[in-house]
Amino acid sequence: MTVFSPNRTRPQGKTVIGEVITMKAEINQSGCIHCGLCADICPSVFRQEGTEAASVRVEQIPAKYKIEAETAEEQCPTNVIKIRK
Ligand code: SF4
Repeated sequence: MTVFSPNRTRPQGKTVIGEVITMKAEINQSGCIHCGLCADICPSVFRQEGTEAASVRVEQIPAKYKIEAETAEEQCPTNVIKIRK
């Protein structure tokens, strides 16, 4: 797996599996209602089990999960997920 730092030039026309972009997910856990929607939408970034508040699995969001992570942010019923670029 090839991982590029945000400052490194990406090869033209190539899809890089595992590419890391500078995006982080944060959850205000005090507002989480444990519905599990974020983990259903993007299980590679979000985790939620039982009655525990959801948490973030990764330090940086891999590029291939960007859309799913942003969808989870949009769909969270209590609006406690923030994706920061
Ligand atoms: S979608 Fe929102 S409320 Fe539901 S488990 Fe995830 S963070 Fe909690």
